[in-house]
Amino acid sequence: MIDITQPIYVLTIAAFVIGLIRMGNPATARSGILWAGIAMAFSIGATLFVPGLSNLVLIFTAILIGAVIGFIAARKVAIVDMPQMVAIYNGMGAGAASSIAAIELIRFGTSSFNLTIALVGAIIGNVSIAGSVIAFLKLQGWIRQKPIIFTLQQAANLIVVAVGVLFGILFLTHHSLLISYRSALIPFFILTIGYGFLMALPIGGADMPVLISLYNAMTGIAVGLEGFAISNYAMVVAGILVGAAGTILTLAMATAMNRSVVAILAGGFGKVQEESRTVSGNLKPISSEDVAVMLAYASTVAIVPGFGMASAQAQFKVRDLSDMLIAKGIKVFFAIHPVAGRMPGHMNVLLAEAGVPYDLLEDRDEANRAFQDVDVSLVIGANDVVNPAARIPGTALYGMPILDVDKSKNVVVLKRGAGKGFAGIENDLFYMDKTKMLYGDAQESISKVIQELKKL
Ligand code: NAP
Repeated sequence: MIDITQPIYVLTIAAFVIGLIRMGNPATARSGILWAGIAMAFSIGATLFVPGLSNLVLIFTAILIGAVIGFIAARKVAIVDMPQMVAIYNGMGAGAASSIAAIELIRFGTSSFNLTIALVGAIIGNVSIAGSVIAFLKLQGWIRQKPIIFTLQQAANLIVVAVGVLFGILFLTHHSLLISYRSALIPFFILTIGYGFLMALPIGGADMPVLISLYNAMTGIAVGLEGFAISNYAMVVAGILVGAAGTILTLAMATAMNRSVVAILAGGFGKVQEESRTVSGNLKPISSEDVAVMLAYASTVAIVPGFGMASAQAQFKVRDLSDMLIAKGIKVFFAIHPVAGRMPGHMNVLLAEAGVPYDLLEDRDEANRAFQDVDVSLVIGANDVVNPAARIPGTALYGMPILDVDKSKNVVVLKRGAGKGFAGIENDLFYMDKTKMLYGDAQESISKVIQELKKL
């Protein structure tokens, strides 16, 4: 039988690359996803024609179960829960890579080189799946988001991973001598998965974006290595693409947070004292009517969205408001922090969904150059990314470059109540003399402001 899989793989690889390029621009991102999705469907289809493939009933059953669960979950998930869904799907990719590794290692019917590759892929995949589960639980709020820290944590982590890897090496070096050495795989898998859980626990608060993108990169690398181990070149290339994109994203997120990726790997950051600071000043509520007046008399308005805009699904109202202000001749721009929200590019996705023109979006550095000339900064459900505490050593946010909203002339913060940001610390901005608090759900608050503006 002719092997048609390889030519189809080449085509799907090209389609993956096209998809990835299109995802690089918000205007073409949707079609990029479609390209990648169709390429994936063809890759899976082509794999069914690999000569000598058996267990077809099992394969189809697995595809059916996975497709039904994935389809229903993707349709039902609220947009605000998307980050945890991305985290868990990422983990599933790593789990799939680890499963392939497990089968290859148990069979040990392949060369020592391939077994070594499979083992390395398994270590990376195991750490990624376990860590992704912790990221999911933290983002879902099912375990506390703050760093979980215990005594001698780093030493314990190191011992767990070292012993796990030793079992792996024991298996690699002795499996051909004694069948019982195969059982070394059990502690190998348990300990490396255990390390994945342990490594993610001390990372919390604002540092999660780096971790999530790191798991993304690790999953890609694990898939690529397993592709190598079983000589599936579509997997190798897809894995390399995901690994490379994930690595670039990790570095971008680390730069955005001013964190070092090496420190994450050592499990050494996120370790911050519980907050003992007290913030002076008081919170000054404002009415929607007064906000409308402030906006109507402003020359320049900065809109600063954060997780609360996603949570309130306020992006459409935000767009209506910005359209109204622009129609009144007011200069408006959106200040976008790279880690605002709960997933990389979260704000860009929501604002694109609402049709906000891209040229109104300013990145952090551009926005920071402009804040001093801004009459009113409208902070819509953002907290950590505008918290000047990031400039104070010892706080959970210390070192993260923020949006310098406190440099603008007036600030209005839209939030529901006394909720803290993701990092769980007080925000000095809210207590400043120039800051007023418009309490309520962001969508409802903006609707009221729009109503009041119409009256002016
Ligand atoms: P944030 O620090 O999580 O703060 C969100 C604010 O929105 C809270 O102050 C909350 O206060 C308010 N809020 C929530 N629901 C609201 C609603 N319906 N209406 C109005 N306000 C609402 O958000 P952020 O400034 O965007 O910062 C993002 C944080 O998440 C950073 O620490 C970042 O590191 C972290 N993170 C980011 C990613 C990523 O990839 N972007 C991933 C994981 C974690 P109330 O409760 O008082 O309303």
